[in-house]
Amino acid sequence: MKLIDIHAHLEDSRFKKDLNEVIKRAKKVGITTIINSGVNPETNRKTLKLSTEYDIIKCSFGIYPIDALVNEIKYNEGDFLRKIKPFSIHEELNWIEKHKNNCVAIGEVGLDYNWPEFTKHKEKQIKVFEETIALAKKIDKPLIIHSRKAELDAIKVLEKHQCKKVVMHCFNGKKSLIKRCVENGWFLSVPPVITRLEHFKMLVEVVPLKQLLTETDAPYLSPVAGTKNESANITFTIKEIAKIKNINEEKIAEQIFNNAKGLFNL
Ligand SMILES: [Zn+2]
Repeated sequence: MKLIDIHAHLEDSRFKKDLNEVIKRAKKVGITTIINSGVNPETNRKTLKLSTEYDIIKCSFGIYPIDALVNEIKYNEGDFLRKIKPFSIHEELNWIEKHKNNCVAIGEVGLDYNWPEFTKHKEKQIKVFEETIALAKKIDKPLIIHSRKAELDAIKVLEKHQCKKVVMHCFNGKKSLIKRCVENGWFLSVPPVITRLEHFKMLVEVVPLKQLLTETDAPYLSPVAGTKNESANITFTIKEIAKIKNINEEKIAEQIFNNAKGLFNL
């Protein structure tokens, strides 16, 4: 069975000690590709480095909506902001464009309205999001979208720019918004946390198999609460999708693999 993890953060310090083992376990269950998403200058470069060290890792470069506010929000306003150095959005977009041949997607990008401090800067978030969309179109790469508590706005911005190659990652919007994504021809990627969240079971029911992808968002969204997620856990997601769609796991895996192959040009 060929499996795919279209969204992970293996450059995270939580993988510092066991990344070799994590990759081995992924290969053992049949993972052929892991798309690692950078979210700021530091993680974009770490992602690039990982792709040179592990043939299974492909790059996605992005500017996370929260990190895009690094020049707007001060660190001491809360612990939700990772400690990253201030950076120029335009310089980073230029870096990504220069490395377009090293990446298969633009992401993680999008909008995040999870805290009042973020919604204060909606305009700035949308501006950066639109700039990343423009770049993705220019270099003809799919977008991997983060839309926490901002699902409708993210959809509206993507529709405004007539984006076609889109993956809604870990999409938490309601059923009508899921359907809207499907009608737009976009993909929705399902994390292993589906084992314990009804929302993703509903999502899998609503979305045609041809528009589903699998991701881990590792180290987050683990199938088992309190544990570190990793790419090998894609097997949990495949099992759940097979149960819901009432199709055998091999066929589910094959279709999802082909979905990813087509979208990311793998
Ligand atoms: Zn992520």
